[in-house]
Amino acid sequence: MAPLKPNPIKATRFDAKPEAFQVYTERQLDKIDALTLLTEAQRFEMRVVAHVLPFRVNRYVIDNLIDWHNIPDDPIFRLVFPQREMLAKDDFDQMAAILRSTDDRSLILDKASRIRKKLNPHPAEQQTLNVPYENDEPIDGVQHKYHETVLFFPSQGQVCHSFCTFCFRWAQFIGDKNLRFSCKEADRLREYLARHKNVSDLLITGGDPMVMKTDHLAVYLESLIHPELNHIQTIRIGTKSLSFWPQRYVSDEDSDSLLELLEKIIKAGKHVAIMAHYNHWREMTTPLAREAIRRLRATGVVIRTQSPLLNHINNDPDVWIRMWREQVRLGLVPYYMFVERDTGARRYFEVPLVRAWEVYRRAIQRVSGLARTVRGPSMSTGPGKIEIQGVSEIQGEKVFVLRFIQARNPEWVQRPFYARFDPDATWLEHLKPAFGEKQFFFQEAYETMCRNKFAAETH
Ligand SMILES: *Cc1c(COP(=O)(O)O)cnc(C)c1O
Repeated sequence: MAPLKPNPIKATRFDAKPEAFQVYTERQLDKIDALTLLTEAQRFEMRVVAHVLPFRVNRYVIDNLIDWHNIPDDPIFRLVFPQREMLAKDDFDQMAAILRSTDDRSLILDKASRIRKKLNPHPAEQQTLNVPYENDEPIDGVQHKYHETVLFFPSQGQVCHSFCTFCFRWAQFIGDKNLRFSCKEADRLREYLARHKNVSDLLITGGDPMVMKTDHLAVYLESLIHPELNHIQTIRIGTKSLSFWPQRYVSDEDSDSLLELLEKIIKAGKHVAIMAHYNHWREMTTPLAREAIRRLRATGVVIRTQSPLLNHINNDPDVWIRMWREQVRLGLVPYYMFVERDTGARRYFEVPLVRAWEVYRRAIQRVSGLARTVRGPSMSTGPGKIEIQGVSEIQGEKVFVLRFIQARNPEWVQRPFYARFDPDATWLEHLKPAFGEKQFFFQEAYETMCRNKFAAETH
């Protein structure tokens, strides 16, 4: 764990004046000065991949989080800048050929969308199984998979300050952006929650809800302070902004009003949890990032952290040890370690399940109990969140010991089950039940759920 070298592009700057949010997408790749450190060929490769996978990066990330002495290996560089190996060779070659031979946008987009379709853009049956229906109408922007927790995707929150190369959530939907629409959406959400008294948690997610101006966020949050919604005890907000734009809490025009809004929701009796997405300790090292954490915590919110385990970025117990220790020191609560999902550039980022377990275990062994609140490594699959508890040998058979941390059917939770050990498996679909059993205990019930949902929707 070598100390960081000074950044050759620009020293960290920190003052409380509003700073322009400057963002680059695939069309502005040539405008990023730092990329002149790469060869022409490398820049072209980047453009090829950026036509298929999400690419968006802002000035703060470029200037403060990437160690430009260490590219292309720098973890944050890999986190936001597309790399050739993120596409299958054939897909890469075909896209490269098209870009070399034409400027025709429609041809390029058509190729891009064909490649994307192959990358499982909607994993874990999210669209089909999780969206609730009322009077035969889907409730847009709502997913309800686990009894206690409703997910809400506000239409203006479906973008992020920068994109992570491993993300495919941007494929979900692009919404309307006006305030009237938000009010309507907020009303529908409130009606849905009011009818579901078993729900205790609302998880506002995206994209990144914190890209919203405070005015917009207030429409959603304030509508939750309603006597009908006393059963909603926790409001979680999923965000990467503490890494990608800490200015949101420090120096944006509406930073102060955002913090006041959060305080108001807490005073109204709700628990507000910021579910902060961190992939690497580097993201917490800038003075701005620390100031953002300090100011957020002063409102009374609890910041919990989560991240997938990613090859090329954090596939190393030392990275997690340092990250979790740093989080605890800053008053953050480590919550989830995820297994990289079966979508997008998974081939580039995935690690075998056995490796994920080893990284988790090696890291957990060396942090204090206060960092052992983190659960994982966990796969977010159709039936639920499945944790790899370990590798064991039972009656001569080497097995993975698994359990649901969360499941579509609460009965499945905390019941250990076993899969035949497979050193190459990276996802549930690769696992076979141990001891010669035909299927996992939940499989039949899950398939019935899928069939019923399908039947309900096609009538
Ligand atoms: C992880 C997750 C939640 C939250 O589950 P908790 O166990 O309450 O953290 C809710 N909905 C979906 C779809 C999830 O993947």
